[in-house]
Amino acid sequence: MAEEPKDTKPGFQNPVAGFGVTFKAMFKKRLTEQYPEQQKTTAPRFHGRHQLNRHPDGLEKCVGCELCAWACPADAIYVEGADNTDEERYSPGERYGRVYQINYARCILCGLCIEACPTRALTMTNEFELADSSRADLIYTKEQLLAGLEEGMVDTPHAIYPGTDEQDYYRGLVTEAAPGTVRQVAHSKGEVVQEAASTFGEAEPASEKVIRP
Ligand code: SF4
Ligand code: SF4
Repeated sequence: MAEEPKDTKPGFQNPVAGFGVTFKAMFKKRLTEQYPEQQKTTAPRFHGRHQLNRHPDGLEKCVGCELCAWACPADAIYVEGADNTDEERYSPGERYGRVYQINYARCILCGLCIEACPTRALTMTNEFELADSSRADLIYTKEQLLAGLEEGMVDTPHAIYPGTDEQDYYRGLVTEAAPGTVRQVAHSKGEVVQEAASTFGEAEPASEKVIRP
C-alpha cells in the first residue's frame, strides 16, 4: 500500500496556506469582460457572419455554383442556382444564386466555404452575435446575407454595364452602375410593375417604372 505524503508545514500554517491562491488572485489584473455593455474589437481576420458580395454596380458576385455548399463540412449551406435573363439579371454571367441559405445552428465558422468560392462572392464579416431563440431564425436567407448597396450601386435585378461582359467585371473595369441604370422587375419574386423608378446617373429613361415587393 502506498505511503501517504508527509505534511511538512507546521499545523498553524495550513489554514493560511489554503488562502494563498485567493490572496494572489486578488492583486492580479482582472480578466472579467463586461459583455455586452463593452464589446472588444475582434481580430481583423476573425471568422464571423458571412456576407454575399456585390460588384461595384450592384450586381451580385454569386453565380450559384454550389462549391461553397460542397466544401462545407457541417452541411450548413443550401444553394439553388438559376439562369439570368436580359429582363431579370442578378449577376453579370449566365447563372446566379436564386436561393442562398446558411444554417448557423450548424455552421462552425471554419471558413472553408469562403476558400472554395471562385468569385469571392462569399466572405466573412466580424459580426459574431449570432445567437437566437429558435432554429428557424438561425437559418439566414440570401436577403439577410447580401451586402448592402454602396455609392454607385443599383439594387438587383438590373442590366449588365453596356459594352462589357462578365470578364470585364472580374478585371475591375466596371466601377459603378451605368448612368440611367434602372432596377428591373423581379418576376421570379412575384413583383409587379408600379410607378416611379430607381435609377443611377443622369440619363433617366422616359418610361421609368419600378417595382415593389
Ligand atoms: S464557415 Fe465552415 S461550417 Fe460554416 S458554412 Fe462555411 S464551411 Fe460550413
Ligand atoms: S457563394 Fe461562391 S461558391 Fe457559393 S454558390 Fe455563390 S459563387 Fe458559388
